[in-house]
Amino acid sequence: KVVTRFAPSPTGWLHLGSARTALFNYLYARKHTGSFFLRIEDTDLQRSTPQAVQQIFDALRWLRLDWDEPVVFQSKRQHRHREIGQVLFQNDSAYWCHCTQERLQNLRETARIQGKVIGYDRHCREKNLPEVPGVSVLRLRAPLTGGVHLNDHLKGALYLQCDALDDMVLLRCDGSATYMLAVVVDDHDMGITHIIRGDDHLTNAFRQANLYHALGWNLPEMTHIPLIHGADGAKLSKRHGAADVQYYKIHGFLPEAVESVLLRLGWAYGNEEKISRENALKWFDFSGLSPSPGRFDEEKLIDLNKFYICQYSPEKLWEVLEMQGDKARGTKVMSELQKRAKTLIDLKEHLSLYVQEEVPGISLDALKEITPEFFEYLKTFSQALKNDDGDMESFLKDFVKKREIKLSDFGKSLRIVLLGRTSSVGLYHMLDVLGPSWIQTRIQSAVK
Ligand code: GLU
Repeated sequence: KVVTRFAPSPTGWLHLGSARTALFNYLYARKHTGSFFLRIEDTDLQRSTPQAVQQIFDALRWLRLDWDEPVVFQSKRQHRHREIGQVLFQNDSAYWCHCTQERLQNLRETARIQGKVIGYDRHCREKNLPEVPGVSVLRLRAPLTGGVHLNDHLKGALYLQCDALDDMVLLRCDGSATYMLAVVVDDHDMGITHIIRGDDHLTNAFRQANLYHALGWNLPEMTHIPLIHGADGAKLSKRHGAADVQYYKIHGFLPEAVESVLLRLGWAYGNEEKISRENALKWFDFSGLSPSPGRFDEEKLIDLNKFYICQYSPEKLWEVLEMQGDKARGTKVMSELQKRAKTLIDLKEHLSLYVQEEVPGISLDALKEITPEFFEYLKTFSQALKNDDGDMESFLKDFVKKREIKLSDFGKSLRIVLLGRTSSVGLYHMLDVLGPSWIQTRIQSAVK
């Protein structure tokens, strides 16, 4: 059975790269009718906040990446981490080290000056020192010869010489576990079979492999994917502006659009751009992963957002927008508006002009576009409309014909006073949706 996990550190909004990691783990698990777990790596109590945990839940729910219960909080497993630390010590796979911060600092400094790899010099390795709370740290007795083999689904067969890895700390002097120990113990206890994560964790993977061997546990299958880059080719970060899921949620993007973009960042199925969840579950596999980093392209996201907005029914969109106002008018005009919207925010703004009775604000600049002559026409139009019960199209056509004015000119004035904007749906459709009484109120309020 396949068991995957997503293991974020709750320190802020969910980064797009993390969301992609979650998506890949989700798809792989669900495709194989396995389990997808969430582990909150909140051991850094200074930086982890309950709000950030909530933000992770919210972002994952919004992306429709449902996880299996229970959620594991790493901070609650400290006892177990220490227990495994002790097991390693008893097996002689780990030892207590009493080196002072000062000594370690000197080591680092010397290594830096000599241009050597910075690492612990194994000073306490053969000293048989006891555990002294507040003083000793537990270090892995890493193998001194040979190397670590790793089979990565994307990177292939990897090998690292042992001397590249020092005796890493497993338990700190306050008894807390390091990331390296905690992650291995938790992955093992949660029965994780596959780890998919960013390739910034690749060196950790070698270290973790040593730990798995020391414990006699089976290493999960590993897949390290390249990090997402921005349009400029640099690693996607806050510098690129919007690098988190919540930004796109707030700014009117649909989760389907964000998902499609994430899916294509480092994975592909032919040239498919718009991949439904159903197809993603069918097609997702490691062979579609790409070794080169994907570039996040906001234009592509906007295109996809436009596409997915058009896939929704007017009724569904009304719900998604949490729209207030006259629903009958709304559903009548929605199909035209959804074709024009880049985001849900655009759509909502535009739609509110048709479904909310209150008169839209019109900028002075827009009003200035209407000549005094046309103001008179608008007045007459409004009055004449009162007595007309025919259809809007012939009414408007007759109206401009009699006065020998251009439909497009009058139409522009109409749009300005009725909507406060110069572009919207077709003129007849606009009039039809608004209806005589709203049209009159709006014209009257603009021309008085
Ligand atoms: N908590 C780690 C992170 O946020 C992930 C650990 C892992 O996937 O092994 O990068």
